[in-house]
Amino acid sequence: MLEERYRQVEERIAEACARAGRKREEVTLIAVSKTKPAAMISELYACGVRNFGENKVQEICEKKEQLPSDIQWHMIGHLQRNKVRHIIRDAALIHSVDSYRLAEEINIQAKKIRRIVPILIEINIAKEASKFGIAPEDAKQFIEEMMHLDNLKIRGLMAIAPYTEDSEENRPYFQKMKQLSVDIARENIDNVSMDILSMGMTGDYITAIEEGATMVRVGTGLFGARK
Ligand SMILES: *Cc1c(COP(=O)(O)O)cnc(C)c1O
Repeated sequence: MLEERYRQVEERIAEACARAGRKREEVTLIAVSKTKPAAMISELYACGVRNFGENKVQEICEKKEQLPSDIQWHMIGHLQRNKVRHIIRDAALIHSVDSYRLAEEINIQAKKIRRIVPILIEINIAKEASKFGIAPEDAKQFIEEMMHLDNLKIRGLMAIAPYTEDSEENRPYFQKMKQLSVDIARENIDNVSMDILSMGMTGDYITAIEEGATMVRVGTGLFGARK
């Protein structure tokens, strides 16, 4: 069941890449395993998946103990400052940096273990009151303020598009994200590369890939519905 869904998602990603004239290797599938047991992660691991996304620090810590060490754990949920130290070693990429104070804390903890931690800046692209993230018009200045935090490496941007039944509605938001990423890259800010664009979930990852996503975060489409 899981393997079959994975093959379908892979096929759709490959088709979207082909349509958009992109190479399959340009897009990383992140299997969002939040609330799902380690046994299901193992099943996808056996299919070759190595990137998994979680939205709770504790879940990353617990699952990591039970699973192979070459899994890349992506922190995709809102991160509280007092939890940063628990994942500073284990997170391959933190997608959800949405405040200066959080960035500062990641930098402090990263320095302690002498690690350069890759992060993405979360953008509230549709300016939804219910969502975290930096307003798109503030992103450039926000990133410039963080440039001296030298145990961080800003690798790109992340967005959660609005929930919709029709992924076409999110196409303009994905286009805006891509443009923002290009604009910031053009500034050549120290310590900043814009090579990662994390956007697209089960309902809209195909559209996101067509508009330039380099990471898509798929949960339900792989693991089935969450409780
Ligand atoms: C849960 C979650 C996803 C995956 O959502 P699905 O619709 O189940 O694919 C992606 N990104 C973030 C930030 C999430 O919290």
